[in-house]
Amino acid sequence: YIEVENVSKSFGNHQVLKNVSTQFYAGEVSVIIGASGSGKSTLLRAINRLEPHDSGSIRIAGVPVTDDPATLQQQRCEVGMVFQQFNLFGHMSVLDNVALAPRRLRHLKRPEANALALELLARVGMQAHAHKYPWQLSGGQQQRVAIARALAMAPKVMLFDEPTSALDPEMVQEVLDVMRGLARGGMTMIVVTHEMGFAREVADRVLFFDQGRIVHDAPPAEFFKHPPNERIRAFIGRLG
Ligand code: ATP
Ligand code: MG
Repeated sequence: YIEVENVSKSFGNHQVLKNVSTQFYAGEVSVIIGASGSGKSTLLRAINRLEPHDSGSIRIAGVPVTDDPATLQQQRCEVGMVFQQFNLFGHMSVLDNVALAPRRLRHLKRPEANALALELLARVGMQAHAHKYPWQLSGGQQQRVAIARALAMAPKVMLFDEPTSALDPEMVQEVLDVMRGLARGGMTMIVVTHEMGFAREVADRVLFFDQGRIVHDAPPAEFFKHPPNERIRAFIGRLG
């Protein structure tokens, strides 16, 4: 569904992505791991054009990711993103946070947008909090609202950039549970995470980034059982 071909990206003279090529298929859950600074976030941000790549191509459902505004708007509807910091709109209720995009981008009327938002909030177990403000919620609850907000665009793919790493440990599972549910429902997902339990259980593939390159790509059973080198074995060992 997403094709990445020879993608490179530099910040100044620091090359962060080095000829990255891979494909993410519809319905597949891919987990990306790798050391800090290896380019994981940059790849996700390039897929969403939050960061333009320098060379190579990224195609979503066959359509190249470029700066063309109409295409970009279409692609941003197709590709939802959830960040480490939940980035909810602080001055808006939970319901309005989720209903905003359907109203603005999908041109739903307020009652329809609110009904959709409530349905999505129910899916992430947050319906009862619809009228609260973000500051009244725990981190895990805010992140579940952020997921509902991304789903409100009816995306075909969901990108997650370390969605649980800013959370207190007791809130990690509630967010992973929502992500598991999405995966079970057939959502195409690319997830940067160091939650190895999630990777083992939910991922179809695990990709290992090292200094701007994908150096290993395998189904989780194989990935964890037969790490191809000592570096990757040690990295997995540290994550537990
Ligand atoms: P982490 O696990 O810490 O999130 P990462 O694998 O996601 O790391 P990236 O965020 O993709 O790594 O960053 C890769 C490199 O690019 C890092 O050295 C980072 O400092 C640099 N970098 C990222 N964004 C920018 C930017 N906007 N301007 C300059 N340098 C950047
Ligand atoms: Mg990152």
